[in-house]
Amino acid sequence: MSDKKMCLAIVGGGIVGLAFAISLAKSGAQNIEVDIYESASAFGQVGAGMGFWPRIWESMRLLGLEEDLKPLASSVANEDAPQESPSVSPKVTNSNTSPSVRVAFVGKNKCFICYPVSNGASINCGGIISYPEKNGGLHDEPWVETVSQEGLREEFLGWSPYVHAVIDVGLPYSHIQYHADSTEKLIKAPSKWVINSVVDLPTYVSGRVALVGDAAHAMTPHQASGAAQGVEDGLVLAALLADPLASPETLPHILHAYDRVRRPFSQDVLRRSYESGTTYCFQRGAFAGVSVADSANGKITLESLEALNGHINELLEWTWKTSSGGDRSEASKMFYGLVGA
Ligand SMILES: Cc1cc2nc3c(=O)[nH]c(=O)nc-3n(C[C@H](O)[C@H](O)[C@H](O)COP(=O)(O)OP(=O)(O)OC[C@H]3O[C@@H](n4cnc5c(N)ncnc54)[C@H](O)[C@@H]3O)c2cc1C
Repeated sequence: MSDKKMCLAIVGGGIVGLAFAISLAKSGAQNIEVDIYESASAFGQVGAGMGFWPRIWESMRLLGLEEDLKPLASSVANEDAPQESPSVSPKVTNSNTSPSVRVAFVGKNKCFICYPVSNGASINCGGIISYPEKNGGLHDEPWVETVSQEGLREEFLGWSPYVHAVIDVGLPYSHIQYHADSTEKLIKAPSKWVINSVVDLPTYVSGRVALVGDAAHAMTPHQASGAAQGVEDGLVLAALLADPLASPETLPHILHAYDRVRRPFSQDVLRRSYESGTTYCFQRGAFAGVSVADSANGKITLESLEALNGHINELLEWTWKTSSGGDRSEASKMFYGLVGA
């Protein structure tokens, strides 16, 4: 790194902006002054808790956050096995304990997912409804709206009693069989979110500006990887900026290497996430012909559901079989090639 100081503005203090700032602090980059600009007046909890695959645990370890996160995690991922397995049928435990795995109910154009957060203290539940005909369009705001419990129930009419017990009572599925007659409503204010994607940008960089996180590759949540990919963007950029050859003069090469490495990878994850969603929602392959009525009546063979589960797991394999270190060394190699070192 040259002696010249670089001033870096991170615009947006979401998970990706903050993780990028930590990546820079951990990278040993000298002579970089970082300012974070955030338009929201306060931080608050938005949304649904995050899934952590083994590959994102690796990033958290690099950021020094692993120990802080462990007490919050419902199950800790290890290096060589998937910790969350999408399931095509309800797994109902006979115990009275909170579930420790994600459970997905799937059907034509819709799916319903429940997973534990905060070390099993709470369960997040979400129904995802797909409107393929709206792909490619822009959604009018508001993107988040409160909906009635009746509206939510109607969307899943005819679905598993477990889904309805969760909607009506709000209890984790492991408790449902014991408390199905409970009148207490734990889901107090369900909300409806538009899921926006940013697909196939021709570049993530322009001049001295780089896009990271959702600004570059907002994706559907079906691989639980949007934020994780943004964190990886920050790790790659920080590693490049910490290089001894990084300087205001070599910045264009840094950004070029970042774009060339991170854009194809994150766009591939975006594609896999979308494909997982269309698989969950019976919109592709052997499932494309399944009608809404057959899906609601459960007229799907166990074999075909197992094939669906297998395909979803294949699409996800990268999350536990690969490491983000590959992107960092490839970007560094490319940068050295560009500066002629
Ligand atoms: C239902 C659902 C489930 C998900 N589950 C997972 C999961 O399990 N795992 C995972 O990895 N990802 C998951 N994601 C994706 C993840 O939530 C996003 O990818 C991630 O939050 C994006 O972070 P970000 O920091 O890039 O953007 P944001 O979180 O959108 O942050 C951007 C910040 O920038 C601020 N801002 C905007 N404009 C300006 C401006 N002009 N000036 C200053 N500040 C500005 C905003 O106020 C905001 O704080 C999920 C998404 C959804 C919808």
